[in-house]
Parts: sequence; structure tokens; C-alpha cells
Amino acid sequence: MDFLRPASWEEALAVKAEHPSAAPIAGGTDLMVEINFDRRRPQYLMDLNRITELAEWEVGEESVRLGAGVPYTRIVEELREELPGLALASHTVASPQIRNRGSVGGNLGTASPAGDAHPALLAADAEVEVASVRGSRRIPIDEFFLGPKRNALAEDELIRCVHIKKATGPQQFSKVGTRNAMVIAVCAFGLALHPRDRKVRTGIGSAAPTPVRANAAEEFLAAALDEGGHWESGRTIAPAVARRFAELTAEACQPIDDVRGSAGYRRHAVSIMARRTLGWAWQEYCDGVRSRSCA
Ligand SMILES: Cc1cc2nc3c(=O)[nH]c(=O)nc-3n(C[C@H](O)[C@H](O)[C@H](O)COP(=O)(O)OP(=O)(O)OC[C@H]3O[C@@H](n4cnc5c(N)ncnc54)[C@H](O)[C@@H]3O)c2cc1C
Repeated sequence: MDFLRPASWEEALAVKAEHPSAAPIAGGTDLMVEINFDRRRPQYLMDLNRITELAEWEVGEESVRLGAGVPYTRIVEELREELPGLALASHTVASPQIRNRGSVGGNLGTASPAGDAHPALLAADAEVEVASVRGSRRIPIDEFFLGPKRNALAEDELIRCVHIKKATGPQQFSKVGTRNAMVIAVCAFGLALHPRDRKVRTGIGSAAPTPVRANAAEEFLAAALDEGGHWESGRTIAPAVARRFAELTAEACQPIDDVRGSAGYRRHAVSIMARRTLGWAWQEYCDGVRSRSCA
């Protein structure tokens, strides 16, 4: 196995063009497991850690540009305000050691249905910027996941960064596992309220062949909030509305039975997470409305 160490982004793209089978390595927390267990034996490993821009983030007017290699620890510590959903999800990943190395770029590279960043990226509304020597393009997160561990990258492309809308309202993330830490999600759920656009977005993890949004649930809840004047008043959401949101969210799942949980359990757990996260997010939103009207 040859180890390639490009010093710049341009050099990395040239290396990938010359050796499309080269496996990029960022934190190595997925890839080294694959290699150690003999599930993968790439001819070339391409270390991305010398490329400083991949480890940088930048907060813009509307969105955050998150370099593909920024580790979870820094998202938790440095971007909690701008990306609260992703920060919550990052906090649930593995252990401090893995969070110090593992990155959102690596999570997207692996494209596991159970990747914890994915529900938060779906809910927040993200675009993945990928590039090759042929040029660069932005892939909406809804179009990025093609199947279990399959993503929309061409073989000569690398992930450069993710553009994630800055939170304009509350965001939540919830994950079910067999214990509190170091656990692959049995299922997970991300929710983001976008009050400025009067929109709701969701992300479901580990309950379908790919991470998915619950589109019908989002539309139902956004319409209910609009029609009831809830965005303006911050009034409590009726239990029947929260229940229907949860049901529609569960209907978006296409889970399987596996060693981590049954399909029926996953569907049920996702509905519970949808209702709970809505309660938490709406409470936060109402507190904001009340403090603005008191000011
Ligand atoms: C003990 C343990 C616990 C874990 N727990 C969790 C958990 O709770 N939740 C969770 O979601 N994950 C978990 N993981 C998996 C892993 O930590 C995450 O998926 C992490 O985000 C991978 O990031 P990385 O930088 O280490 O990726 P790497 O291992 O370096 O790469 C992963 C894949 O992405 C590709 N890749 C990396 N960077 C790029 C790039 N810029 N462009 C294109 N392709 C790229 C690689 O070639 C590889 O195929 C765990 C792993 C371990 C070992």
C-alpha cells in the first residue's frame, strides 16, 4: 500500500485524478477499521491532513462553510451557536478520542445510514461541495446519499467542505442506542425549525437504506403552525398536531430488522423522538417569542 501525502488541495485533486482508486484518509476512524479488519485493501492511501483549509471553518452571512476535515470536538466547542443541531449530533459520536479525529467529511465519505452528522445536515439544509480536476459542484444534502454506504461522489472527486445554513431557530437531535456513549445509532432524528422561512426540516438516521427527510411530516407541521398563527404567538402546539407529526415521521422510515434493533422498534422510536424533539424545540422557540415580547 502506497501512502500519498499531498500538501495542497490542488495537489490532492491531481493525485486523485491520477489514482482514482486512492482512498482519502482524514481522521481514519472509519477507514482504519476497514483496513484493520481486512475489509478494504486500497492500493493507495491519500492523507488529507496536510491540507490546512480542510480543517478550517468560516461563518458567513447565511451559512457556515465547514471544511471536510474539521473534527467533531471543534464543532461542539466552536460552532454550537451557528450549528446547534450538528453540535448536538457531534457530541453523541463515539468517545472524546474519536471526536478529536473523526470529521463530517469522513462521515459523508462513508455515507452510512447510521452516520450521526447526516440527520442534522438534512434538517439544517446543507450542501456538500465536491471537486475534481474537472471543476467543483455543490450537491444538495438530499441528493448526496444514494444507497447504504453509497454517495454521489464521482471516483475522481473529493469532498472539500459542507455549506450549512446558520440556525435561525431551534434545532434538536436525538439518538437511540444500547448505551449512552460509543454506540452506533439504532436510529436517530434531527429537527430544525426555520421560523424566517416558516419551514420545518427533519432528518432520520438508521431507519432507511439512506438518511432521509420526513417530507410529509415537515409539510404537515409547517402548515399547522402557519394556519394556527403559532409562529407569531408562540402558542402551545396541540397534542393532536404533535402526534400526527410523529406518525407521519414514522411513515417516512423504511427500516430493517438487524442486530441493533427491529424494524418495528425503529419506527416506534423515531415517532417518539419526533414528538419529543418537537416539544423541546417548540419550548425554546416560545421562550424566545416571550422574551422578545417582554423586551
Ligand atoms: C470506536 C468508534 C466509534 C464510532 N462511533 C460513531 C458514532 O457514534 N457515530 C458516527 O456517526 N460514527 C461513528 N464512528 C465512525 C466514524 O468515527 C465517523 O464516521 C467519522 O465521521 C469518520 O470520519 P473520519 O475523518 O475519521 O473519516 P475517515 O475514516 O478518514 O474516512 C471515512 C471515509 O470517507 C472517505 N473520506 C474522508 N475524507 C474524505 C474527503 N475529504 N473526500 C472524500 N472522501 C473522504 C475515506 O476515504 C473513507 O472512505 C465510530 C468509529 C469508531 C472507530
